[in-house]
Formats: sequence, C-alpha cells, structure tokens
Amino acid sequence: MSAYVQLLDAAIRDLEGRKAAGESFVVVAPDALNALAVPVPRSQPPAAVPMAQLRPAVAAPRPAPAVATPRPATPLAVPPVRPPAARVPTTEKAAAFAELRTRVLACVKCSQLVATRQSVVFGVGSLDAQLLFVGEAPGADEDRLGEPFVGAAGQLLTKIITAMGQTRDTVFIANVLKCRPNQPPGEPGNRKPRPDEMATCLPYLREQIQLIQPRVIVALGGTAVEGLFSMSDAQITRRRGNWMDFLGTPVMPTFHPSYVLRQETGPDQGRATKRQVWEDMLQVMERLALPISEKQRGYFK
Ligand code: URA
Repeated sequence: MSAYVQLLDAAIRDLEGRKAAGESFVVVAPDALNALAVPVPRSQPPAAVPMAQLRPAVAAPRPAPAVATPRPATPLAVPPVRPPAARVPTTEKAAAFAELRTRVLACVKCSQLVATRQSVVFGVGSLDAQLLFVGEAPGADEDRLGEPFVGAAGQLLTKIITAMGQTRDTVFIANVLKCRPNQPPGEPGNRKPRPDEMATCLPYLREQIQLIQPRVIVALGGTAVEGLFSMSDAQITRRRGNWMDFLGTPVMPTFHPSYVLRQETGPDQGRATKRQVWEDMLQVMERLALPISEKQRGYFK
C-alpha cells in the first residue's frame, strides 16, 4: 500500500471515530482547504496534506482588516469550522474571543447603521456557556449601554434565565445584528433588522458560536430564527418549541420577550404565552440535564 493510501485510510478512520463520538465538523485551515481544492493531475502522486493542518484555526488571532476582504471562491462545500471545546485551551479561546470582539467593534460594513449607532453590542456572558441566547438586534437602551437585553425585554429575559437556575454570567447573550437598526428621524420604536443586514452580521455570531461551543442555543423570536437560518418567514408561532439545528448545535426557537410583554395586556395577562415560553425552556433544561424541581415544572400553569 502506498504511503498516500495509508495516510488516506488513517484520515478516514480518524474522521469516522470523531463522527461516532458525536462531532459534526472538523477544523480545516484555509491553506489546507485551498490545497484540497486544487485538482491533482492524474500523472502526479497526490500531495499529502499534513494532519496537523487539520486542527489549527482558533488560536491564531488574525489581524483585524479595516474593510472586509473578499474570500477566494472554493469549489468545496465545507461547513464552517467548529473545533471541539475540549481542544481549545481557555487562554487561546479568550485571546481569539478578544480578537473577534476588536474586529466586531470596529466593523463598518453597514454604513446606515454606523451613521446612527452609539455602540456595537457584541454580547455578554461566559465564554464557556452551555447555553446561548440569541436575539434580533439592540434597541435604544442596548445601543446606549453597549449590552444586549438591558431594556424591558431584557429584564424579562433575565427573569427567565434566573428561573432556569442560571445567571447572565453563566450563559451568553448575543444578537444576530450587533448594531441598532437605524430609524427614520423622529420615528419612535425599533425597526426590524433587514435580511441583508442580518446576513452581513451573521458571520460574527457564527464565530461567537464556534468559540463558545454552547450545547444549546435559544433563538428569541421569529426574526432571530430568520437571521440565524437565513429564512424569510420563520412562522414562529408554529415553529416554537420544536428543535432546530444550527451547524450541529441544537436550537430551541421561542417567542421574543417583547412579544411576551405585549401579551400582558390580553385577557389572561399573557399567562398562556409565558407558559409556552416556559415549556420551551423546560425542554432546554432537560437537554442540558439541569435540575428541575416540581415547582419549576409548574410555573404559569
Ligand atoms: N431585543 C433584542 O432582540 N435584542 C436586544 O438586545 C434587546 C432587545
């Protein structure tokens, strides 16, 4: 057997072992990917890609480009890298996260948002969070303070997190869009983020997810689902409570806290909607094997 075939066999065995252990993605360096994308003439022995190149990425901080550089097109459809948490030492993760944060805070990709924003709202919480909450975009309070979910909807989200036995420090909270959607002058309230704005910003959230590696993501509201999955109508009423999958991470779609607050003026003061959200969170707690008391099971019944 040639050395090439032996290497190939070893690579296949390694990948099958990882798949059996539950891994969905492997880390592939851009250089290795580009090397694999180049067709090898039949007359030449194929170039072996060192296995070491299959696991780099997260540790090496990239210099922050002032403007996004177009990536060379690759004929390979490879899902975004997702290094296993255990293989990323905490210091490297923290450094990669700090580098990502610097890049996000300096982002000027959406000129209409840059023109009106006070802050870029990166996200808060633990880098080792098992649970990641994703909202749609910062509102006025979040834009002013630079932190997600600090207004009225944020206070309700904090209550939900507390009811789950967690804190804002043990989970991570982020938005699909990191800047407040600009409003026509004088118009109150919040504008829904546009699909193109969310698509532009989504790579940052994807990098956050790749670094944190939460075991579960909660998508707060239809817009967050639409942004995460690049879909046009999430039909959140039908979809909530049903697991989805974002690049190998389970996602629980639920109602946005603002929607829950709006139901409080209804005949049952929003109790039925709160129970629906709570049932979604019970599913999340079960999936994370978090302790659930009988009292917790009965909230809003
Ligand atoms: N709504 C969101 O979706 N995100 C926030 O950060 C605040 C309100």
